Amino acid sequence: SNKVTIGLIPADGIGREVIPAARQVLESLPKSDASPQFEFIHLDAGFEHFQKHGVALPDETLARLRGECQGALFGAVSSPSHKVAGYSSPIVALRKHLDLYANVRPVASVAGTNQKQLDMLIIRENTECLYIKQERIETDANGLKVAYADRKISEYASRRAGQMAFNMALMRDKLRANVPASERLWQGSPKVTIVHKSNVLSVTDGLWRETVRGVKESNPELYKSVQMDEQLVDSMVYRMFREPEAFDVVVAPNLYGDIISDGAAALVGSLGLVPSANVGDNFVVGEPVHGSAPDIAGQQKANPIAAIRSAGLLLEHMGYSGDAARIYQAVDAVLREGQIKTPDLGGKSTTQEVTDAVCKRL
Ligand code: NAD
Ligand code: MN
Repeated sequence: SNKVTIGLIPADGIGREVIPAARQVLESLPKSDASPQFEFIHLDAGFEHFQKHGVALPDETLARLRGECQGALFGAVSSPSHKVAGYSSPIVALRKHLDLYANVRPVASVAGTNQKQLDMLIIRENTECLYIKQERIETDANGLKVAYADRKISEYASRRAGQMAFNMALMRDKLRANVPASERLWQGSPKVTIVHKSNVLSVTDGLWRETVRGVKESNPELYKSVQMDEQLVDSMVYRMFREPEAFDVVVAPNLYGDIISDGAAALVGSLGLVPSANVGDNFVVGEPVHGSAPDIAGQQKANPIAAIRSAGLLLEHMGYSGDAARIYQAVDAVLREGQIKTPDLGGKSTTQEVTDAVCKRL
């Protein structure tokens, strides 16, 4: 049988509302011979868990993910904005421990709605950049503090992120062939846009840019059909807001990728709509792009769609693209109808009502 065990890590805040929603959708998928039989195991992590037990990512969570699960869904963590002794973000640690080197973030408008039309895929390098968190503080000659952070860009990680970007560009091109030309947002040959700031950071971002460019240059046959483009990160933001339809696949170092994804989320109407998958060679963790949203947590106001789509991405990257497509189509149908929506989209529906509407559409 196709037994698939999925670890559920709601963690903090609205993670506890949107992960159960995603689970309900997975459980509501119509059963067929080709579709997986899910088993779910609940796993602990998060800032609240740290406050109670002194650890944000328990060893048991990591061990059971490695030993029993084929994939996982992570909610969100309420990382504090000040330093807390002994605490560090469990999702950043998970990405590192499970070698989930690319964060794949599709941001697309839904045809038939009156939002700005776009269909981009952001690939965020997921293991290094400023997220290695090597910070230190010193005192200058005047007794004033000076803080430093190391930023790591390696050829190894940049190449893996670049390969993911070019492979996904080919994959998207193949899938687009099934869409009628009149409904296709992206008309030309696939394109990868490399985001960097190597006009200033010529060593670190210079290595990033050169390495990602090298992915195409050293595989000219394989990536022949993929156009390669680049954009400085600041003008990337500008262009993305003015002409988001000019982008297909966008590949960025960790921090730039984080920032431009929240911007892209604004273009499609809400952070509550944008999913991601943390992808490695052996494991996938689906995770909404948004955080724990303490301003709305516990009130049934959270939009579950980002988490539901993340469950779809999880299936897609585990090889169950048919079931993934069913989830995406059910979500799009609910959005197109536009009746049942949470407050972030201007509606009055609850998390549960949106989830039920998606399940009904499956
Ligand atoms: P956030 O993404 O939690 O919220 C930003 C805004 O978007 C808020 O107004 C929130 O209400 C809204 N929003 C987010 N998700 C929504 C949803 N599903 N439905 C409706 N509205 C939604 O970002 P923040 O406020 O900057 O951070 C809050 C906490 O989340 C912080 O502790 C931060 O460290 C953490 N965070 C965690 C992750 C993660 O777990 N991967 C990512 C980002 C932020
Ligand atoms: Mn983020």
